[in-house]
Amino acid sequence: MADVVDPATRSRMMSGIRGKNTKPELIIRKALHARGFRYRLHCDLPGKPDICLPKHRAVIFVHGCFWHGHDCHLFKWPNSRPEFWRRKIERNREVDGEAAELLLATGWRVATIWECALKGRTRRSLDEVINQCADWLLTGGSRLTISGRK
Ligand SMILES: [Zn+2]
Repeated sequence: MADVVDPATRSRMMSGIRGKNTKPELIIRKALHARGFRYRLHCDLPGKPDICLPKHRAVIFVHGCFWHGHDCHLFKWPNSRPEFWRRKIERNREVDGEAAELLLATGWRVATIWECALKGRTRRSLDEVINQCADWLLTGGSRLTISGRK
């Protein structure tokens, strides 16, 4: 069953990374599902993880590099309202860090997949990202981070 993907899903997966309206977390969800992983969307956990896999005691955050202030080519401080943006993005980073600490402290395993691993010039193939995720879910440790290529 793991390899069965309906044509609509397949076409979304294929076009997703370049498509303007396909959200990265949706791409990851569909690809994990296609590999046989079953997840929940709305689990009541710190930081509201995008994907939650209770069976594997694991959560996955798919972070937009701008909103979460990633140190990568997709992030640039806006020219207008610098104070507003600095406060906002630093606050987001604080919340991310606190959520990860709380989750780890309560026995959850935490993965962060950055947008730059999925789009732009540093992107990896979806297979590579999903393989890393799948390996981590099945055998990995407490923390996984996937960023774009250096
Ligand atoms: Zn990034």
